[in-house]
Amino acid sequence: MSRPLRAVIDSAALEHNLGVVRRCAPRARAMAVIKANAYGHGLLRAAEALRSADGFAVLELDAAVRLRQSGYRQTILLLEGFFAPEELAVFDEYGLSAVIHDFEQIAMLPGFRRRGGLDVFLKVNTGMHRLGFQPEHFPGALEQLRATPAVGSITLMTHFACADEAAGVADQLERFRSLARGVGLPCSLANSAAILRYPETHADWVRPGIMLYGCSPFGSPDGAAIGLRPAMTLESRVIAVQELRKGDRVGYGATFEAPGPARVGIVACGYADGYPRHAASGAPVAVDGKRTRLAGRVSMDMLAVDLTSLPGSGVGSAVTLWGAGMPVEEVAAAAGTIGYELLCAVAPRVPMVEA
Ligand SMILES: *Cc1c(COP(=O)(O)O)cnc(C)c1O
Repeated sequence: MSRPLRAVIDSAALEHNLGVVRRCAPRARAMAVIKANAYGHGLLRAAEALRSADGFAVLELDAAVRLRQSGYRQTILLLEGFFAPEELAVFDEYGLSAVIHDFEQIAMLPGFRRRGGLDVFLKVNTGMHRLGFQPEHFPGALEQLRATPAVGSITLMTHFACADEAAGVADQLERFRSLARGVGLPCSLANSAAILRYPETHADWVRPGIMLYGCSPFGSPDGAAIGLRPAMTLESRVIAVQELRKGDRVGYGATFEAPGPARVGIVACGYADGYPRHAASGAPVAVDGKRTRLAGRVSMDMLAVDLTSLPGSGVGSAVTLWGAGMPVEEVAAAAGTIGYELLCAVAPRVPMVEA
């Protein structure tokens, strides 16, 4: 027997969640965001499940090349574009598309002769202040791109800061519309939260990320409540049981104290596997399909769960850290973070298997 921890990936759930995107945004093309190793689900495994997407978006050139070499013919967009002129030859060879977000990138283009023309997504900063041209620089950037022979198609793009929050997208959307009006180019604005909440942002390309993996961009209610299915279940087993007397303490820092006679199960999963160390005592976990809670601090390779109310569970019992039956959104909330971070952080040492 090997260590029982594994991340089980449900490809059918990925396909199902892409179907939800299609139903929400029936007229838009879907650019499946599979950056960060497909939010921890495995780049090529996720691409295979999402093969009917109209495009893929990634960060690393290497990931884009692997996708092309695997036979995907759709748009492959590099979300931060290129960083040096040498990379442009790779964009050419593999037919990759690039986000262009500043004048330094435009300055790299003139020396570049591309057979088909480099397809670009011109990114405008409408209020997030991360990447993108300021609205006052947008006309100049567009003019330069249109005057560059190496440039093929141009799509306008922006990214929302608060699509998942009460502030919403109205200000950014208005700023984007006033720039895009009359320009006559396709547009891409919506991340998962905007796909779900703001149909007026769907435009020509939507860019779903987290919802493809079955996690709600809103944290609460969870993905299942909006028709999504979790694509990753992180599961392990109880590998030891400790019978505690009143006052006994568990784990580093002795932060959990048994209020009376108690039982804790020791689970093969720790922060070196990507389980958040900041999950407090009380964070939810499922043992044999029943909800219980963490007891004490998460250590590098193990964590402890309270089995006092689960007398039928013991060594060998199945533990769901998150996924089917234990929403990652809830675990993330207990750790003061978001589902995105937990999914992305699953460590390479955790074996990934198909459901
Ligand atoms: C990551 C990312 C997305 C996907 O966002 P989700 O909230 O995961 O849907 C879309 N667009 C850009 C530019 C991104 O960086």
